[in-house]
This record gives sequence, C-alpha cells and structure tokens, in this order.
Amino acid sequence: MKKSLYMATTALLILVLLTACSVSEPKRVLAELAVSNSQIYENNINSILWFQKSGETRALYYQAFNLADMVVEKTLSEKTLAKKPAIVVDLDETMIDNSTYLATLALNGIEDLSYWGEWNEEMKATATPGAVEFLNKAVKKGVDVFYISNRYWENIESTQRNLIKLGFPQAEESHMLFRDKTDGPSKESRRQAVSKTHDIFLLMGDRLGDFSDIFEKPDEKNRNKAIDASKDKFGAQFIVLPNPMYGYWIDQAIDKDYPNMTAEQKRKARINVLKVWETDLIK
Ligand SMILES: [Mg+2]
Repeated sequence: MKKSLYMATTALLILVLLTACSVSEPKRVLAELAVSNSQIYENNINSILWFQKSGETRALYYQAFNLADMVVEKTLSEKTLAKKPAIVVDLDETMIDNSTYLATLALNGIEDLSYWGEWNEEMKATATPGAVEFLNKAVKKGVDVFYISNRYWENIESTQRNLIKLGFPQAEESHMLFRDKTDGPSKESRRQAVSKTHDIFLLMGDRLGDFSDIFEKPDEKNRNKAIDASKDKFGAQFIVLPNPMYGYWIDQAIDKDYPNMTAEQKRKARINVLKVWETDLIK
C-alpha cells in the first residue's frame, strides 16, 4: 500500500515538473532562435545582464534617490525660491525600467525599437528602485514633478496608465512633456516651458541631454570639456542614473554610422574605439 502511494506521489511530481517545463518552453525557443543570430544578440546581452542582475545597479538607483532626497531637503530649508519648486525627471531607465523589453529584442536579434507601442500598451515597465518613494515624498513636501520624456505624444495615455499603476505621483498630462514626432531629442524648450511657472532645482536622467543641451557635442573631447565645466552641478542639481544598454554613447559616439552597421561591423567599430593597455607582454 505504502509502495503504491509512493509511486503515485512520484508520478504526480514528475507530471508537475513536466508541466512546469512546458510553461518555460517559449523562453527556450527564444534562446534557440537567438543562437542563429548570435552576433546581434551578443551586442547588448552583457549590458542588459548587468542592468538586470547586478546588485550594484540596484544600489546605484537607491544611492541616486537618497542623494536626490537630500537635495530636496537642503533646497527647501535653505533657499527662497521665487516660483514653485520643481523636479524634472526623465522616464526610461530613470524612473521606469524597460530592460525586459530590451532583453526580448536582443534575444531575437532585433536592434531597432520594434513593438515599442505594444510594450507600452501592456504596461509592463517596472519602477526603478526607490523612484516611486522618492517622488511621493517630494510631492508631499510641496514640490511639483515634471516628467520630460522623449517618448512620443502618441504613447502618453499608455505611459500614464503605467505610471499610475506603479504609484507615481502627478502622472497627469500637465506634468508629462513628451516629444513631438517632428522634434529632435532636445528637451530644452520643454524645460523652459516648465521654468515659466516653476523653479527647477533638480533634474534626473540617464542621458546627459536630460540635464542640458550644453552636453550635446559631436565629439568626446568637447563633450567631456562641457561635463568638466559643470562638474559642481553633478550630485547637486543634476543626478545621473546608470544605463549601459543604449544611448548616445553607443548610437553616435562610437561612429556616426553605427546605427546603420551590420552586427559584425558594430563589433569591429566597438573594438576600434576601445582604449587599451599598450604592452609587449601580450601578443
Ligand atoms: Mg532615459
């Protein structure tokens, strides 16, 4: 009797395990597909892994929002602002995390932003660690938040629903300044629009253009000069978040034709610009 009960339990366990395996089937199919296109998928996989899996990424977000909280405290207690205080934040990879979308694209060898609309509609972007808590705390202290994003206006409703679902404050159209299809990536005119009614004392983003157009330089030397000239503002007025997955640094800084290159050309272009240790020890 005991033996038959044991066998029945074992059979049930095997069935549960088989069912679990069949649930994970799509992921394995995705990985197999990717192998045939491995050069493309390897272009970004380490960056996405670092973003998703490293404790350092998580800690960096907390570090940034803790620092931002100190800036809010200091500003409100020490400064007299002429207008209502405001924080300007970017959305993607600053307040919300799209890395699972990017991972699925990478595994399928897709390098453009295909299915972006569908991704937004599903509202699966998650909040970055500490983002929701920080903004709610700031709003309670009387600070207004403006979400200045380079998402297009057509994505505003789905983005708004996603932000509300995650608990972000002031996720309403008057606080969300998105990009017109005809506009470039500059956010300057949108920052100026906010400045008409508010004193922007803090900006947060994963791209230097989230802070000022002065960093939008075509070459690395001049861009670094602009950063050095503003060094006192980082951590005080500008707070930068980590994004190794995409951005100006790879789209244009490596080679102006980089976005149009094949996977193999991209690999070579990346190797060409690496700063290396000049040594006779390694041949
Ligand atoms: Mg961003």
